[in-house]
Amino acid sequence: MKPRECRASVTALRALTPEIIEVDLEVIEPADWSFEAGQWISVPFGPKNVRAWSMVSSPTRKGVLTLSIDVAPGGIGSQWVRGLQPGDAVRFKGPTGGFVFNRADTRRAVFVAEEIGIVPVRSILSHLYETGYGRPTARYPGFSYLPVLREPPATWRGEKGEPAEAVERLVYGIDRLIVYVCGGGETINRVRDVLVTKGMDRKSVKWEKFW
Ligand SMILES: Cc1cc2nc3c(=O)[nH]c(=O)nc-3n(C[C@H](O)[C@H](O)[C@H](O)COP(=O)(O)OP(=O)(O)OC[C@H]3O[C@@H](n4cnc5c(N)ncnc54)[C@H](O)[C@@H]3O)c2cc1C
Repeated sequence: MKPRECRASVTALRALTPEIIEVDLEVIEPADWSFEAGQWISVPFGPKNVRAWSMVSSPTRKGVLTLSIDVAPGGIGSQWVRGLQPGDAVRFKGPTGGFVFNRADTRRAVFVAEEIGIVPVRSILSHLYETGYGRPTARYPGFSYLPVLREPPATWRGEKGEPAEAVERLVYGIDRLIVYVCGGGETINRVRDVLVTKGMDRKSVKWEKFW
């Protein structure tokens, strides 16, 4: 679907942490607006100045969407999000982007998200959970979630380090694998390098660069 000029209204705001704010939007126009899990919208802040945000919600809920925004960068986009109130009008363009899950692709999928890069992955996984994985097995065949902390507390017994180090340790078979990576450009490059060194084809690493 082509990106469209849209008009929406803020219906709710939630601070997940002091610096992660979720924004619920109701799309007023166009009435039939929809998106694919993994896509994003752009909000204008003057000529040639936009900020892009991915949908964190699943596309099954028609006419509504949720954004999940890290306001730590503190720029024009973060300040705007901090100032939003329920009832505010929002103009945006979308949906855009090809960081979407292809159900026809029968390879095993690995999702690697750095920090707020979890946003499109949450949308994709929620959508797969709600609608079924499209394979003969159950709703979430062999699903596992491995949080990796850069600076873990002393009590942490889980994975530690950089995303690329975790991929190096945990992804041992690259055969019939497709990998989705979202976050900063440096991490995307490092993860792809690790996978290519393991023998993976570069094209089998799909990515979305947030910063
Ligand atoms: C396709 C796409 C989808 C995106 N989706 C999301 C999303 O769902 N949620 C979200 O929070 N952000 C997302 N972003 C980033 C978002 O567009 C803004 O850059 C971010 O919200 C900060 O906006 P800002 O105006 O405050 O700072 P900016 O002026 O945009 O950024 C200031 C600096 O911080 C860097 N930066 C931006 N975000 C981060 C970050 N999280 N961690 C470290 N450095 C960062 C920028 O590259 C820049 O160098 C997305 C970006 C793209 C391109």
